[in-house]
Amino acid sequence: MPLRSIVHIDEELCNGCGLCVTPCAEGAIEIVDGKAKVMKEELCDGAGFCLAVCPEGALTVEKREAPEFDEDAAAEKVAEKLAAHVAIKQHCFNCGRSEMDAVLFPARNKGESTWVCVKCLPALIHG
Ligand code: SF4
Repeated sequence: MPLRSIVHIDEELCNGCGLCVTPCAEGAIEIVDGKAKVMKEELCDGAGFCLAVCPEGALTVEKREAPEFDEDAAAEKVAEKLAAHVAIKQHCFNCGRSEMDAVLFPARNKGESTWVCVKCLPALIHG
């Protein structure tokens, strides 16, 4: 195995908050039994975008023997994550129209961040 840069997770410091999972575009990090783990070393490019989000300082980039970074597999994972994100459609909280049917605006309703469509917005403003 080649010597290369790869993320190291200090399990003693990790509190399992999961904040490092999302910034890992390649999906290399998962939470297992309450601790972050680099599940597929070949998906970790060692860029370290996850480091800054860790509140415990549990993440570092180290040089060690690890499987070669698999660019094709990582690109596939990035595409999967992107497709899953795009598939989530926003809906108007009032009438249920999706962003495919109407223009939606971000709104706050009963203390919650939500979306309202262009047809329901006037009623929301004027009552
Ligand atoms: S962000 Fe840090 S503390 Fe949170 S799960 Fe990841 S490594 Fe653990």
